[in-house]
Amino acid sequence: MKFVNIKEGKAEIFIPKAKRIYDAPVFYNPAMTLNRDLSVLVLRVLNPKTVLDALSATGIRGIRYALETNAEEIWLNDINPDAFKLIIRNLKINFGEELTLNDKMARVKGEKEILATNKDANLLMAEKFRYFDFVDLDPFGSPMEFLDSTLRSVKRKGVLAVTATDTAPLCGAHPKACLRKYNSKPLRGELCHESGLRILIGAIVRYAVKYDLGINVLFAYYKDHYFRAFLQLKDGAKEGDKSLKNMGYVYFEPKTGRFEIERNFLPSREGAFGPLWLGPLKEQKFIEKMIEKAEKAELPQKNKLLKFLSIIKDELNIPFFYDFHALARRNSLEVRKLSDVCSILQEKGHKSSRTHFSPTAIKTDAPFEIVLETLKLL
Ligand code: SAM
Repeated sequence: MKFVNIKEGKAEIFIPKAKRIYDAPVFYNPAMTLNRDLSVLVLRVLNPKTVLDALSATGIRGIRYALETNAEEIWLNDINPDAFKLIIRNLKINFGEELTLNDKMARVKGEKEILATNKDANLLMAEKFRYFDFVDLDPFGSPMEFLDSTLRSVKRKGVLAVTATDTAPLCGAHPKACLRKYNSKPLRGELCHESGLRILIGAIVRYAVKYDLGINVLFAYYKDHYFRAFLQLKDGAKEGDKSLKNMGYVYFEPKTGRFEIERNFLPSREGAFGPLWLGPLKEQKFIEKMIEKAEKAELPQKNKLLKFLSIIKDELNIPFFYDFHALARRNSLEVRKLSDVCSILQEKGHKSSRTHFSPTAIKTDAPFEIVLETLKLL
């Protein structure tokens, strides 16, 4: 295996040399730097002490958490023996040679304690019951096979960070896979990315409530063909009940683009998509704190990240949106400027905002008929 040396944030690591990232024996995706930058910021806001990067690959994520946040004990793990060897090599570059190694565990003991293991993540998380303040799941594809052990390994008031790159099932291109993995019927069309994210969160909620845990969404987003959710666990059966009240379904009319949501355990009529999460996708104060931290931070993708967080900050915290290109197509209308439509809706007393899910869409509390009427007026 040949390696190249790269820098990301404060970390310097070796990655395997390969023509395509998926051919490499150990995985590193430079396109996920923003995902890692955002995660570093989340950790800076939350200040967890014990952190697990359960699916570490090169170790970049855990190493950045150790170098760039206040975390005190950081665990890195990967089942792939080549990844484990590379993690050790990368730990040595970043934290010196004072690394002890026995069988399947490496340990760096300096100002911080850093541990690396070469185990099945489910096994490791089962062994470390209610141990971590923060668990990061960054799998190939779906996180579902790791979810139960993650919910046991994280403390009852801890935080879960979950990536899902299986957008084809979640966004309805492979509906059978979505039914199998997430027990949910996915939606196609312009709302598919938001409904995909809500299906992912909804599945996690349904796993969590059986442990008498509720979920508070600190920040969840879609970007560059992946989903990411930072979820704070809330301890207690009542918290679980509260989270379930935010579960439900969406109905979608392909002819017009009208959608309707229903908070209910079962759908009241035919044609429902879901179940999915209908609660907030962010905590406003949390996003503001992330922006505050980002403004002062040195991060590889700082400008891109600040732009993205500013859209998230201003985005209405309500389910779904109207995409003007799709609405125009579905209703044989001309495409109008988002800002013109927003001004008219605001004059009519309705809130509206852009959404990170689509550059050609708005979120609004105005009913569908008013949005359509406004498009026709312009
Ligand atoms: N978190 C990394 C980053 O930010 O660069 C990327 C992780 S990569 C997408 C997923 C990793 O999960 C792979 O390195 C793979 O070997 C590892 N993996 C897959 N199944 C596993 C399991 N059951 N237990 C532990 N690691 C596993």
